[in-house]
Amino acid sequence: MIDGKPALKWLKTFFYVLVYIILLVAGGHFLLPLKSTGVILWMLLAIIGLILLVRWHARCFSYRCSDCGHIFHISPLGDFLSLQGVTRGGWKYLRCPHCRKKIKAQVISKGKKDF
Ligand SMILES: [Zn+2]
Repeated sequence: MIDGKPALKWLKTFFYVLVYIILLVAGGHFLLPLKSTGVILWMLLAIIGLILLVRWHARCFSYRCSDCGHIFHISPLGDFLSLQGVTRGGWKYLRCPHCRKKIKAQVISKGKKDF
């Protein structure tokens, strides 16, 4: 991460996840005591928040194959369903569309090929 933009995106990711967690906890505190209606509203809050978070992440981040270096994008569903980790700047377990190998792809900020 040479310039400030990728770091800003990682900070944004942290901020959005933090806001989501706060909304879940606060929503649970106020909605869950309302019995079934509250539980349904809380589940809707959780699902809608998760969809927005995953769509944003899929739109803003790309992936670099650890084997051939190919940079590619994935769908929000692929972003949601794939295994991921946070070591070495973040990775996702994906199949590279170029070399067809299953790899731990490095998460990179979309629009930047090298940083
Ligand atoms: Zn590859």
